[in-house]
Amino acid sequence: MIIAVDGPAASGKGTLARRLAQHFNLGHLDTGKLYRATALRALASGGDPADPAVAEAAAKAVRAADLGDPRLADEAVARGASVVAAIPSVRQALFAFQRDFARHPPGGAAGAVLDGRDIGTVICPDADAKLFITAGIEARAARRVKELRDSGKAAIYEAVLQDMKDRDARDSQRRAAPMVPADDAFVLDTTTLDADAAFAAALDFIGRKLAAAPAKG
Ligand code: C5P
Repeated sequence: MIIAVDGPAASGKGTLARRLAQHFNLGHLDTGKLYRATALRALASGGDPADPAVAEAAAKAVRAADLGDPRLADEAVARGASVVAAIPSVRQALFAFQRDFARHPPGGAAGAVLDGRDIGTVICPDADAKLFITAGIEARAARRVKELRDSGKAAIYEAVLQDMKDRDARDSQRRAAPMVPADDAFVLDTTTLDADAAFAAALDFIGRKLAAAPAKG
């Protein structure tokens, strides 16, 4: 079973994807980490993440062990991630990692939940259930500010909001795999929903989707 969870930053998709994976006993891959790891490698090499040759080399060097690096949470790395993510050769280089995870989830799990921007449209177009999680930009910026402050970092709301607007624009306007809901995705707006309500709505959709699907095999 493959569940695709897409959506913009701080929409609640990461929390939801983790909970769904736990509930259904599936593997979970936060694909944003692959783009963040690419940006981190590019920055650490002293190169410009916007340079396609630098970014492609960085993407090709990304390994599973990179995904636990705490620096992936830095805002500068997130910004760099949305820059490298617009480069087609970077997306191409990270494609196999994501498909392999979906086909052969670790620990022999019966499937996987992948969260990102293009899972339902490009990486797993045949996913059993596709969700697109969104929320108003002010709500998302406020959540990110809280997250940053809770982890002991300073955060200015206006700066976080502007950063998020820039990132949304880059992610949805790029030519390579832009962030859009798949035609058959369930679009869930979490502006006024807490994590439990979002989880319940997602479970309801997945339950109906699986019940309507023809039996496999
Ligand atoms: O989800 P997260 O904020 O960690 O993603 C960082 C950046 O990686 C996003 O802004 C986006 O540009 C890129 N990304 C992507 N496709 C994915 C996941 C993330 O382009 N499947």
